[in-house]
Amino acid sequence: MANETRAARLENLWDDGKTAGMSESELLLYRSNLLGSDKRITNYGGGNTSAKVMEKDPLTGQQVEVLWVKGSGGDVGTIKMDGFATLYMEKLNALKGLYRGIEHEDEMVGYLPHCTFNLNSRAASIDTPLHAYVPKKHVDHMHPDAIIAIAASSDSRALTQEIFGGEIGWLPWKRPGYELGLWLGKFCEENPDARGVILESHGLFTWGDTAKESYETTLEIINKAMAWLDAKIDGDVFGGVKVKTLPAEERRAVAEKLMPKIRGMISETEGKLGHFDDQPAVLEFVGSNRLAELAALGTSCPDHFLRTKIRPLVIDFDPENPDIDKTVAGLEDAIAAYRDDYAAYYERCKRDNSPGMRDPNAVIYLVPGVGMISFAKDKATARISAEFYVNAINVMRGASSVSTYQGLSEQEAFDIEYWLLEEAKLQRMPKPKPLAGKIALVTGGAGGIGKATAFRLAGEGACVVLADIDDEALETAKAELSSVFSKDIVRGVHLNVTSEAEVAKGFSDAVVEFGGLDILVSNAGLASSAPIEETTLDLWDKNIAILATGYFLVSREAFRLFRYQNAGGNVVFVSSKNGLAASPGASAYCTAKAAEIHLARCLALEGASAQIRVNTVNPDAVLRGSKIWTGEWKEQRAAAYKMSTDELEAHYRDRSMLKRSVFPEDIAEAIYFLASDMSAKSTGNIINVDAGNAQSFTR
Ligand SMILES: [Zn+2]
Repeated sequence: MANETRAARLENLWDDGKTAGMSESELLLYRSNLLGSDKRITNYGGGNTSAKVMEKDPLTGQQVEVLWVKGSGGDVGTIKMDGFATLYMEKLNALKGLYRGIEHEDEMVGYLPHCTFNLNSRAASIDTPLHAYVPKKHVDHMHPDAIIAIAASSDSRALTQEIFGGEIGWLPWKRPGYELGLWLGKFCEENPDARGVILESHGLFTWGDTAKESYETTLEIINKAMAWLDAKIDGDVFGGVKVKTLPAEERRAVAEKLMPKIRGMISETEGKLGHFDDQPAVLEFVGSNRLAELAALGTSCPDHFLRTKIRPLVIDFDPENPDIDKTVAGLEDAIAAYRDDYAAYYERCKRDNSPGMRDPNAVIYLVPGVGMISFAKDKATARISAEFYVNAINVMRGASSVSTYQGLSEQEAFDIEYWLLEEAKLQRMPKPKPLAGKIALVTGGAGGIGKATAFRLAGEGACVVLADIDDEALETAKAELSSVFSKDIVRGVHLNVTSEAEVAKGFSDAVVEFGGLDILVSNAGLASSAPIEETTLDLWDKNIAILATGYFLVSREAFRLFRYQNAGGNVVFVSSKNGLAASPGASAYCTAKAAEIHLARCLALEGASAQIRVNTVNPDAVLRGSKIWTGEWKEQRAAAYKMSTDELEAHYRDRSMLKRSVFPEDIAEAIYFLASDMSAKSTGNIINVDAGNAQSFTR
């Protein structure tokens, strides 16, 4: 099946109907989005596109030539018009007179803002000269796996000639920057008929007189490379199969054991988010004879290793005789050895002005027979890093099949990783949010307080697992969070807190989706009201089951996971004013809520030595958005107070000392406080969020 997918060619998606009447810059945008929509054409964020367009100068009114080129950052697949930098071609050409030679090429970046056309605030990228000096109207620079496979072969120059004859040229490895721009310009002058050029260990440049011609040439060249590779590659890629691939369920089970352990060991300085990927391309590689040898060579394309570190960590696991405990026991040494290797690489390659060593932990972890695990500072980065390693696998697959695969030299890799321009980019990044790198599971996550909590925690940078029994509400809540934040940071699990099996499954899903857990918000609840004589055993049991037992089951699971992960933990119980203050006609509910509060205190005691904090928030009368306040309970409470249901909110407000209504967001605020480091030195505490109620003062 994998081979069939690979054999499929890129389709020409250009639609003349859509492009009729578009301006040159609109055509550039259209072409960019088409190219970037297919990962076989370029990796996420990789490559760039440009057009040289005649524009009216806002100052002189004269027609001037302007380079439109993808700006710094950004991704061609999702770029919008404001993602392009615009620069005067005349000024870009004048920079040639300022260039002092390769030793000083980095300073040229500082001149780019001086070339800005029309006060465009989008920063120009270091690839700008590469586009400026190609004397063609439309230029595409892509990172297609099929082309990089050729570019990362030891005889890539000869292969380029063999596949493309004279139509595509070849340039040796050169770090992107001003000098490479000049090389490209010179190449085009000397080879006026060439349709493009392959850059060794990097990617492809293609061009055309029109946007459509450039697009079609790019596709044609990549298709040619794909067809050539397919014809060359026989069945035995990566030296053939070494070990079997475990069935999907068992692969997940192994990932579940490994991810929290690794996470606990590498999250000392910053919290890490995990991603598990077991797509066919990964499984083929991790089960192959040449896994260890090829993984050790590192990746070739600069984009790949900037995201994945110079090389992955291959985990010692034998799917033929699985012994997960032995593998887990060996993790500490394996991770320490990787860090030592990385530190040695830093020491070997560092220059006088290199920035200090960054996090020495691996990003990519390869597990034979199981798949790939990646860890990064946030979920999107972990996912994209895994995507990039799949790109690298595709490259190695092609290159090692038709030739000898070569990674970039260690010093070149280092010079890019610790490039001062790259460091400056990192320094410009905003400071991480307080809950960045944290994972929270919220029970009753689709309802009022649960959903407000999920929003609050996600707003501070956490990834959130919504656990709920209401699948429809779960989908809605997930969609709402995804649209405000991103799909990456939210997951939903169906979870009945009274079911031991569903609780275990929910936590295991959270672990495989995000890599572990830091925060449990136990919030799922119900409410009931009845005088004691009318309280059925059924009603009593139901309250105890959902409130007392449910809180016990989820916190037991969280404790097991926290201890296994070995990085502390945080539990917040959403109890109730009624857990402290007796209330008429609701004995089952009040008793179960009191059980929660005492359970929290017991757990605070047990968890302290492992840095697991347990605290409680006691809301009262949070009506808005709450599922337990719809239907029966609302009517029962209204009946108990001898009023209509519409009068309840005002009743509760007036009953409070502060005479204020309490909303889900108010509870979420207290939960956030307890879940964050703001309360790092509090455990076993109760915060009342009830607008003041003397009966529930803690004592
Ligand atoms: Zn590139």
